[in-house]
Amino acid sequence: MCDAGDSEPSSEHRAQPFLSRRALLVGAGVAFGATAIGWDLISPTLSATAAGTYLRPCGDVRISSSWQDHRNRTPPSGEPGTDYAVPVGTPIRAAADGVIVDRKDTTSTATGRYLALRADDGNYIRYLHLRSSSVLPGTRVSRGQVIALSGASGFGYESGYGPHVHVSLWLGGTPLQLGFTNSVDFENYAEPEDPMPIHQSSTYLWNSVVPVGIWTRVPVATNLYWLAQSSATVKETGDLAIYFTASGVTRGFQVRVVAETLNASGGVTNAAPQPALEIRGTIATTRNSPTYGSYSLPYSLSGPLRLFAEVRALNGGLRIQQVTVKKNYWLS
Ligand SMILES: [Zn+2]
Repeated sequence: MCDAGDSEPSSEHRAQPFLSRRALLVGAGVAFGATAIGWDLISPTLSATAAGTYLRPCGDVRISSSWQDHRNRTPPSGEPGTDYAVPVGTPIRAAADGVIVDRKDTTSTATGRYLALRADDGNYIRYLHLRSSSVLPGTRVSRGQVIALSGASGFGYESGYGPHVHVSLWLGGTPLQLGFTNSVDFENYAEPEDPMPIHQSSTYLWNSVVPVGIWTRVPVATNLYWLAQSSATVKETGDLAIYFTASGVTRGFQVRVVAETLNASGGVTNAAPQPALEIRGTIATTRNSPTYGSYSLPYSLSGPLRLFAEVRALNGGLRIQQVTVKKNYWLS
């Protein structure tokens, strides 16, 4: 809902959009190829932000009325924006670094209480129907900082729309300069929310003597070797770490991860070992708890692939007692 009033004629606003992270991801997806089979070591930083990508006010919540919905109303909204449905009192986070440039603290008119942010990239963002705001005009804020609590003031609660925060965006000017109806779709500039990773931790009591100089597959559970796997339809992205407790370690041992590519019937068509990490006898993390490692690997698997670990001893009589694998990963 939001804004009745001013029925300024709508004119196309042609400012160039900044390249959003969504666009970058879509581009990367195309380059990667949906059916491509491959695995990559990737940067563990999955949440890097690019200039011009905005944070949504309350995370990944339902949109009760889109910018286009606002324009389609009869009469069209005087300030098209995106309505994010959230309970009254939900913290609202600044979309970008910038300065608070306008604030209204009464419930009058369609907007109710609002806050306006001039982002450092020159764009202008308004948050409407607030319960309260905690920053005054002139305040410098940073991306992600809580600047207000959502409410239902003004048109926030009328006509059955329910409490929400309405976000309007103008490119390169103020709404007075550009016209209130010439806002653009904030969603096109919002950064997709990173899904929460799945955390997984397992410890397996292997209790085996590792042969000297022979790569030996490391189980992570009874008769189970796979650290990570993807299929033709499910991709897996994450990072994993492997630790060992061992006895009889004098010279040490080596660890590596191998990526296996499979064919349609599950047969192995290729095996690509990664460089081995040498774990020397002297680098046990503590003297009383002989934990060795860790081997850490950020990865991205797409296609019928799986990863497993191998070890080989550098001295005789080396016994690995426990194998611990910790993973943070996403399936897509
Ligand atoms: Zn609205």
